Amino acid sequence: MTHPLEEARTKANEKLGNTLVEALKKKEYQAVYAPDREKALEEVLKLIPKGASVGVPGTVTIRQIGAMEALAEHGCTVHHHWKQLTPEQKPQVFMDEYGADYFLTSANAITRDGIIVNIDGTGNRVSAMAWGDNTMIFVIGLNKVAGTLEEAINRARSATPPNVIRLGGDTPCIQTGYCLDCQSPARVCRAMLILERPTFGRKVHVIIVGENLGY
Ligand code: SF4
Repeated sequence: MTHPLEEARTKANEKLGNTLVEALKKKEYQAVYAPDREKALEEVLKLIPKGASVGVPGTVTIRQIGAMEALAEHGCTVHHHWKQLTPEQKPQVFMDEYGADYFLTSANAITRDGIIVNIDGTGNRVSAMAWGDNTMIFVIGLNKVAGTLEEAINRARSATPPNVIRLGGDTPCIQTGYCLDCQSPARVCRAMLILERPTFGRKVHVIIVGENLGY
């Protein structure tokens, strides 16, 4: 049985999730709220037909909801670069992610009125979010929600220290745990995309999840 305190949290999450869904719909996104990662995965699998190709860039959320395994079981070809690749192989894998039937990703931050913010080092992820001749699906946990655009940008930068630690990099923020807007040559915050709406001609779905997911 759910504890009443947890129940209150669940209800508040649902309210916030639905607020976001309404804001996103006004901005021409297809949007739904999923209370947890299991439901989020169900929504993803409803959108992606069996046998489709799917590009998955660097994203913890998509892996946390179990989408990689589920898509493989769904008969999909999943293109992703979080595997052993030589530097020569990487660009082709980025292009395969880019050119897949579906581009499945998360976001670094989203404002309560539906502006989606992402920061990238290589630029493969933000460029595929800006344009693609395919359908894009965002899966975004409520931990990514920020009030204003400025808060969203700060929130997006807060994803960097754990990512750099995961990659074994060396930036000032891995010592402090927060962004110092560094001038380090190892700086991974190099390109930012602020999506105010889906770009012309792009079909974009957003699944808001009532859980903390990703960094
Ligand atoms: S700008 Fe530098 S310090 Fe700030 S999050 Fe990016 S890499 Fe870290």
